[in-house]
Amino acid sequence: MNLSERDKKHNWHPYTQHKTAPNFPAIVKGKDALLWDENGKEYIDAIASWWVNPFGHSNPIIADAIYQQLTTLEHVLFGGFTHETAVLLSEKLIEILPSNQHKIFYSDNGSTAVEVAIKVALQYNHNKGVKKTKIIAFEDAFHGDTFAAMAASGISFFTEAFQGSLLEVTRIPVPTEGNEKRSLLLLENLVKTNEYAAFIYEPLVQGAAGMVMYAPEVLEQLLTICKQNNVFTIADEVMTGFGKTGKTFASDYVAQKPDMMCLSKALTGGTIPMAITTFTQEIFDGFYDDDTNKALFHGHTFTANPTGCAAALASIELLQSHEMQVNIERVHQSHLDFQMQIQNHPKVKTTRVLGVIFALEIKTDSAESYYGNLRNKLYNFFIENGVILRPVGNIVYILPPYIITENQLQKVYQTIEKALEIV
Ligand SMILES: *Cc1c(COP(=O)(O)O)cnc(C)c1O
Repeated sequence: MNLSERDKKHNWHPYTQHKTAPNFPAIVKGKDALLWDENGKEYIDAIASWWVNPFGHSNPIIADAIYQQLTTLEHVLFGGFTHETAVLLSEKLIEILPSNQHKIFYSDNGSTAVEVAIKVALQYNHNKGVKKTKIIAFEDAFHGDTFAAMAASGISFFTEAFQGSLLEVTRIPVPTEGNEKRSLLLLENLVKTNEYAAFIYEPLVQGAAGMVMYAPEVLEQLLTICKQNNVFTIADEVMTGFGKTGKTFASDYVAQKPDMMCLSKALTGGTIPMAITTFTQEIFDGFYDDDTNKALFHGHTFTANPTGCAAALASIELLQSHEMQVNIERVHQSHLDFQMQIQNHPKVKTTRVLGVIFALEIKTDSAESYYGNLRNKLYNFFIENGVILRPVGNIVYILPPYIITENQLQKVYQTIEKALEIV
């Protein structure tokens, strides 16, 4: 039996109905934007392995930083202790984050980063004796799979089985073109009730919804409404963070800064699972008290794992290098060229580009479900052709490692064009 067959015996994969799933390719090696399976077949990783890998697979600079850290101090508990790499990383993050962010809380993944933000929003009010127990979120949002994160998420079949056990969340429309007024109006009505602790949002791009995009101007207005009515704003930049939108953070496109930010995915360049939630001084001060009970009683065993911190420090240095900034701009320009070429294709409904993110919607007669037939047909076609793309319903998007070569990118575009012929 090869790896692909042996996998089925014990492994339970994410988002997978195993009764109908095929054998999965077993990847044995990765380099830059390429992956190889056990049969030697080559794949272009056009979605950076779920948006985590901007600098390429098996990056020697990050690998070296990890090795150095592993052979100096692989881990120490962060309860009652600190260590050099966490101090350095927090200092570095404060330098690059929006200027109102002052405190860094470490955890393990995007969901926990969101979980922490929501718990902080609720406990901040609890500590002050204020009753604000609900959250506002966008329709079709994705904030993760743990309970509070899932409650904030709006993709229905992800959360259907758990309705009734979830935190109370009210949804407003995503302010895509034409929906701005509805979104603003609803938010304004909600914040006036004084029942809401926070508004959580994916700034400018909703990743899991299919790279749905909206303008910075309307985000500015939404954030201003929250600020004027003392509702905390939580920017979930788990996907958008670290250069994806063309700026370091999507929040850098707006003047109104969020109260909290959630980061993970590209934080460690796609190597070690790690996440952070960042806060303003004001929020931190809501927990700063002689009363022990007002502390944030949240923590994970691997909080601020030194190896993860070392990988993150190396990743941020790579991101800030001139070479990487040139790569981001190059990928962006190529996307714009491809957009010009494809947008009038008879089977294309719309296209959109922001930073290194490209998305196109295929015209369909009926509403395509998230994991529907069209989606599966496209996915299989891409995999057969050695390109890793995971369409969402009728939406095909590209979010490649920034170091993807021009030739590889052209192959991705051509494969999408060919796919349009088979649908
Ligand atoms: C992926 C994602 C999450 C969840 O992160 P995990 O590491 O999968 O738990 C949360 N928010 C956004 C915007 C994401 O894209």
